[in-house]
Amino acid sequence: MPNYFVRKLKLNRTEQLDSLARAAGELYSRTLVSFWRTVRKKRVWLSGYTMERWHTSPSLHAHSSDAITQCFYSSLKSWRVRRKTDPNSKPPKRRRWYFKVTWKSTAIKLKDGKLRLSNGKDNQPLIIEWHWQKPKIVELGWNRASQCYEIRACYATEPVKNSLIKEVKIAATDLGEIHPMVIADGVNTDIFNGRYLRSVRRYQNKLKAQLSKLIDKKKKGSKQRKRLIKSKQKQLAKINNQIKDIEHKLTSRAVSMLKLRGIQTLVIGDVRNIRDGLNYGKKVNQKLHQWNFGSIREKLEYKCAKVGIKTVLISEEYTSQECLNCRQRNKPKNRNYRCSCSFEFHRDGVGANNIRAKYLGEVPVVGLMARPSGIRWQPHIQCNLTDNCLLGNPLDSIDGE
Ligand SMILES: [Zn+2]
Repeated sequence: MPNYFVRKLKLNRTEQLDSLARAAGELYSRTLVSFWRTVRKKRVWLSGYTMERWHTSPSLHAHSSDAITQCFYSSLKSWRVRRKTDPNSKPPKRRRWYFKVTWKSTAIKLKDGKLRLSNGKDNQPLIIEWHWQKPKIVELGWNRASQCYEIRACYATEPVKNSLIKEVKIAATDLGEIHPMVIADGVNTDIFNGRYLRSVRRYQNKLKAQLSKLIDKKKKGSKQRKRLIKSKQKQLAKINNQIKDIEHKLTSRAVSMLKLRGIQTLVIGDVRNIRDGLNYGKKVNQKLHQWNFGSIREKLEYKCAKVGIKTVLISEEYTSQECLNCRQRNKPKNRNYRCSCSFEFHRDGVGANNIRAKYLGEVPVVGLMARPSGIRWQPHIQCNLTDNCLLGNPLDSIDGE
């Protein structure tokens, strides 16, 4: 008996997965009913081979259909063995609405980081983002604990680290108003503290208002007014430079952290639709417009490109609301995200982890995730790269407020 190695991957429920599981359930039930009907009427036990010829499903690959018949026969066989010692044991007679789908190696293809599971000539294949070697057998089943589908990919032996099929490390970032960046790589969640950046912006607003008030008091065209306008521009430019400096240091720090961890792709949650056509009221609008995700995004993009990290933009719709564990949508009320399934996490960490999951098309494995760590701003932040970047350093003050 060879050693088996199984790689599991959770998948969100989709119409395609539902219809595959239903087709499998239908075929299983059909096989089961025909088998027992023949036993009852003709007193004959049909062989598995005959059954495979007799019943197939038009929505599944021929070998996937065979696998379902084989499943029925193996449970029949195990009942016959069990029966010898336990007279009360029951044969498989229950029909199934849904059943697991199995793809054998003939139906599995791996190309360009995508696993293509064939469902027969006339049907859409199932395509899954795949960063590992090609498996021998793939199974699609229902994960009852997480209430989602699960892919189980079986390898004959533990997949060898192949230099050609390197595991692609992917991180995602959520650019936010309170925390300028939250980065998640599947295990670590790093929250960049934005308190200092916000205080500088607050000061900029205050100064702008004060100076405008002074200017308004002067007569139009007067020398004093002109002098004040010049001074206003100079003072604001200085603060703008300070803000730029902070953003540069934050993004440099983030990119060197990613590089150190061997991240190859950074997924950036795209918030651009937030600004368009939405009115949140004067105060929130001011905050949103100053929330310089555009400039932080640009800096991240070109700095990543410089060190060879690919960046991808995806929409961040609903990513801050969906529970990482059970996919239920909740509106977080404070800095902590809490779900009825007892899952709890830092609110902004949920967003980044969901963006990553959305890009990968999988449900995150909550059990793998470490507590989020905070990165506080300080003038020498970009050169202060220690082991913390690899291990994650849970600081007490992650929260901005
Ligand atoms: Zn939940």
